Amino acid sequence: EATGEQHEFSAEVGRLLDLVVHALYSEREIFLRELVANAADATDKRRFEALTDGARALPDDAKIRINPDKDARLLTISDDGAGMSKEDLARNLGTIARSGTRAFGEELANARPEDKPSLIGQFGVGFYAAFMVADRVDVISRRAGSDEAWCWSSTGKGNYTISPATRDRAGTDIIMHIKEDANDFLDSWQLETIVRKWADHISWPITIVKDDGEETSANKGTALWRKPRGEIDEEQLNEFYRHVSHNFDTPWATLHWHAEGMLEFSALLFIPGSKPFEFAEPVRESQIRLHVRRMFITDDAGLLPPWLRFVTGVVDTEDLPLNVSREMLQATPVLARIRKAVTNRVISELKTRSKDEADFEKFWDNFGPTFKEGIWDDAEHRTELATIARFRSSTQDGWTTLDAYLERKKPEQEAIYYLTGDRTEMLPSSPQLEGFRARGIEVLLLSDPVDSFWPERLGVYKDTPLRNISQFHTDLEKFGAPEETQAEKDALDVVIPALKEALGDAVSDVKGTNRLVSSAVVLAAPESGPDLQMIRLMKRSGQ
Ligand code: ADP
Ligand code: MG
Repeated sequence: EATGEQHEFSAEVGRLLDLVVHALYSEREIFLRELVANAADATDKRRFEALTDGARALPDDAKIRINPDKDARLLTISDDGAGMSKEDLARNLGTIARSGTRAFGEELANARPEDKPSLIGQFGVGFYAAFMVADRVDVISRRAGSDEAWCWSSTGKGNYTISPATRDRAGTDIIMHIKEDANDFLDSWQLETIVRKWADHISWPITIVKDDGEETSANKGTALWRKPRGEIDEEQLNEFYRHVSHNFDTPWATLHWHAEGMLEFSALLFIPGSKPFEFAEPVRESQIRLHVRRMFITDDAGLLPPWLRFVTGVVDTEDLPLNVSREMLQATPVLARIRKAVTNRVISELKTRSKDEADFEKFWDNFGPTFKEGIWDDAEHRTELATIARFRSSTQDGWTTLDAYLERKKPEQEAIYYLTGDRTEMLPSSPQLEGFRARGIEVLLLSDPVDSFWPERLGVYKDTPLRNISQFHTDLEKFGAPEETQAEKDALDVVIPALKEALGDAVSDVKGTNRLVSSAVVLAAPESGPDLQMIRLMKRSGQ
């Protein structure tokens, strides 16, 4: 009965669907988590839209309803959320809007067959998970504020149709034609068990329709972050973390506290245990969810500075009105004060955890480069952050700190030396290092893009200046220059004018140096002006 407009899936969706349908048997129940999460997101969205558009007001009895029909072999998940227009349906369910899903699809395609089920279990595939249990999915949706409804329908093979439909109120029904081997998902008891496990923290009511037609409530809908820590168990915390972070691992850090007095808020924040796929995106913004008296308001209030964007979670305050608008959020001093309190708390947690080296390295491997943006960004905590940060070095295996460097430095050494470059594995063999290495002077090896920026901002650490060895080569003389023979001097007198002649305007000068031991020549940057790595970055960006 494929009437209506035919559309092709984007190639990416086609591939992902193929993998989802063929790779999975063991973790199929996660489709319910994905669809219930979407229903909750859509309900949050409508509530927020209604603040500025009364026509989109949420009904008082808004809920998420799970309705299994054994005879018709249909499972329907309905919500009273924002709904989707015809264009929304094609865009959201016909292409891969989330680049994390795309990255995950690639990962999945490259994985060994035996690893695929656990990969899907760990990451989830969003809406397309419905095709794990259904051989056809119909989505009937009516956008809040509109009286048109549309039906999106697909068997998950190559194309989908969109045709006009009817729906008596705004919201969405996801109707799954359950596969022969997926009968469990038509059983209301089984469904209830799964919802308890995956969706207990969702704050909208979730009901399940029983065989006798009665609806029972399936979730507690508690605002987990409002509870005393002693009343929350580990599994609830982890599940909530997965919900807010879109991650599927366990958090490296969980911070939960209630602020009282001048400011009143509850915060439940997480630092992920692994680097999320989406993290590579250029979105430089923290996405902490802001709630006012339990109600979700927005996730773009900038509750943490961009360099702490790896932190996820919720801040719920008493100090703002429920109908707070975007403009008001930007203007209110309350938000600035909460931001400061939350930032300080996260920094102090990182400081404490940094004392356990092995433990801290797990964090550093994932988010070290982002953290170092803070040394550049955060004038108030700059030195504190530099103390926590970890670095590679020319004389040490593994990570080291600035304090450890200072303890090891030579008595006559006046600076912390560092070298910047693109590639970690190339730095140790850089000719720039030779003179320092020959004299036993330790050099920090910095290879993240942000390393071209923060050292100069920091300037001095505990009274010791930081110096880039591609600039401050003359420092080496202090450590005793190896004697030059007359023959060497004579040779230089010939070679230098010849090189100057040959290189012409390509260089500003050619000089003899005591920095090298086995290499013949090295490129050096002037002591004032940008360093070599900066010059490379500028060239690359066309400056
Ligand atoms: P994600 O939820 O991470 O964005 P999904 O694949 O789960 O990815 O969903 C894709 C998009 O489809 C959502 O971002 C949303 O715009 C839309 N969508 C899915 N389910 C619903 C729903 N029940 N109501 C409204 N929009 C929905
Ligand atoms: Mg989703």
